[in-house]
Amino acid sequence: MALLPHEVGTIVEHMFNGMAYGKMLFENGQPSDFIYLYTNPAFETLTGLSGVVGRRVSDVIPGIRESDPLLFDIFGRVARGGKPEKFEIHVEALGAWFSITVYNPKLDHFVAVFEAITERKLAERNLLRANERLSLAQRTAGAGVWDWDIPNGTLTWSDELFHLFGLDPATAIASFDTWRSVVHPEDRQRAEDVILACIRDHVPLFNEYRIVLPTGEVRWVDAFGDTAYDTGGNAQRMTGICIDTTARKQAEAQIEFLAHHDHLTRLPNRFVAKERLKMAMAYADRANEYVALLFLDLDSFKAINDSLGHNMGDLLLVEVSRRLQACLRETDTVSRQGGDEFLIILTHIQDIDAVTGSAAKIVDALAAPCEIEGHALEVTVSVGIAIYPSDAQDTETLMQQADTAMYHAKGRGGNDYTFFSEQMNVARVAALAIRAELRQALAGGEFALHYQPQIDLVSGRVLGAEALLRWHSPKRGLVLPDEFVFIAEDCGLIVPIGDWVLQEACRQAALWQQAGLPELTIAVNLSAMQFRRGNLQQSVVQALSASGLAPALLELELTESILITEAEAALETVRNLRSLGIRFAIDDFGTGYSSLAYLKRFPIDKLKIAQTFVQDMDTNPEDAAIVHAIIQMARALGLRTVAEGIETADTVEHLLLHHCDEAQGRFLSSPLPADAFRHYVLAAMQPSVPNKVLT
Ligand code: C2E
Ligand code: MG
Ligand code: MG
Repeated sequence: MALLPHEVGTIVEHMFNGMAYGKMLFENGQPSDFIYLYTNPAFETLTGLSGVVGRRVSDVIPGIRESDPLLFDIFGRVARGGKPEKFEIHVEALGAWFSITVYNPKLDHFVAVFEAITERKLAERNLLRANERLSLAQRTAGAGVWDWDIPNGTLTWSDELFHLFGLDPATAIASFDTWRSVVHPEDRQRAEDVILACIRDHVPLFNEYRIVLPTGEVRWVDAFGDTAYDTGGNAQRMTGICIDTTARKQAEAQIEFLAHHDHLTRLPNRFVAKERLKMAMAYADRANEYVALLFLDLDSFKAINDSLGHNMGDLLLVEVSRRLQACLRETDTVSRQGGDEFLIILTHIQDIDAVTGSAAKIVDALAAPCEIEGHALEVTVSVGIAIYPSDAQDTETLMQQADTAMYHAKGRGGNDYTFFSEQMNVARVAALAIRAELRQALAGGEFALHYQPQIDLVSGRVLGAEALLRWHSPKRGLVLPDEFVFIAEDCGLIVPIGDWVLQEACRQAALWQQAGLPELTIAVNLSAMQFRRGNLQQSVVQALSASGLAPALLELELTESILITEAEAALETVRNLRSLGIRFAIDDFGTGYSSLAYLKRFPIDKLKIAQTFVQDMDTNPEDAAIVHAIIQMARALGLRTVAEGIETADTVEHLLLHHCDEAQGRFLSSPLPADAFRHYVLAAMQPSVPNKVLT
């Protein structure tokens, strides 16, 4: 410190900056090390190094030559007589940042004055990171920042905003013209108006508009902003952000679509259909036209769904919707109501004949087999039609009527269309009333069974009886099954009613056994609904165990349609029950599908030849031939035959000739109440009583 005046030396001793004076050593002209000649107290504080004077830096901080070559370069350069240099450096060996100024007091010597700046550096870096994060956030949010100096009319945009607009921040200019050129032409005026209105009304900005990128791509943005005013109320600046909302818009559109369309077929759903129907009706009023509402239901969809799986069912529905759309005009609407039901609205109808044409076209279009994954699926449709304003004045009623008409089309075998008529309504209203009363009938004990004898055609013996349901309605008197069974099937009531029939028939048959009558088979009719909804097997087993009737004396009558439509469920139940000894007959044979395939699959005991053939066989040779063929086939398959609905002695003769096994019909006996039936059996056992079959 002898170099310096005392006062200066004192300053050096007390200054906040660290100071080191050193001699640089060179090897082959390159700075290789230095020796500390002097350090001030602040040096120690800032570097944490002490007792360094007289020592080599490679000694004091081993490895520094390798870890911080830059420091040596600069110190060396200055020591060799260079100009003073000021720099910021991270000294790796110390793990700290320094701002250093190096001077050259004499050749190969240096004076380094430095500050520790690690904290500042960290703060700077954090700030930088925060900025980076902010801009990253803006980028990922698709948000850009804008600032509008209103008096000067200048706009400033963040890089993100340029990017959002599909522009390059290096070449494009932030201006209202640029903005206008980006905004979708259809939204331009409105977006501008919104901005001006916000400034005028002192309200925050919310603007939603489309932009068109240079690529032609259209995107949605939301702009939010706020205006600053001077004390005189003049707008000074408006600042805000702009975000890309395209993805949200698309999601919203998707949700909107799903709310109004059926996800599978992508057709409008029932809500949309109803709206369109209302609109079509309003339009028809003005134009003096008609609207036709068609209600469609596929005829054998359930069977396909059950046998081939839901996936095939779905594909089929898609194909059906495609065909329906192909049948219609742009202005018509096809909608899926759910399941296998569709609704079609035909508009601009001037003449009802046009509706007939469209309906026929639809029925035909669906009748052609659908090729789906190698299966040729046959699906037909039943269509009910109601016309506005002739049939009804409001949507609800019109839909109701089309639905009613559809049921009529289905009831007639399907694959057809039917126009609604008032009679259908009368029938519907009557059916609804019956349905309500049926709910009470079971609890009220209004049901009874009548028993129609089944006679052995050869011996004339009574073999058993068919139990036939009777409803003694307090309001209607005696009601026959044809008037109410289909209604009970429609609403599911047939399941509890059917259970009651089983219980009652078994109970009665067991009583006759106990009363000493000969062994009599009791035949009970089953409905498809009992296979579908009820637990038929359990019901049958319960009826048998509660009554104590031998299973072999119970016979269950199935229709051909049960075997076709409920094939899988029915087959298992029938097999299980048959293994208990219960017998099965097919009712009304010849009127349905009469397929040999199911006769082979199902363990059947008997065929009941349908009344229509039996009654006409005396007069119609074709019917006689059919009866003959059925009997032949049954014999070949080892099945017994029963002829139903025999009304004349001639028919009995005829059947005997054809080797029919059993007979049932009014000619022999009408269905009888239980007690009358018992008397009938007892009387038939008396040899003195003439036997209709044998005489
Ligand atoms: P079905 O099983 O074919 O029963 C034969 C029907 O023919 C009975 O009508 C019977 O009274 C009637 N019949 C008997 N002899 C003659 C005759 O000589 N000529 C004519 N024209 N008809 C005759 P019913 O009792 O009115 O029953 C009608 C249908 O209702 C039955 O036809 C059956 O399908 C159904 N049914 C009856 N009882 C039940 C039941 O408990 N459950 C279910 N699911 N259906 C039942
Ligand atoms: Mg029957
Ligand atoms: Mg029958």
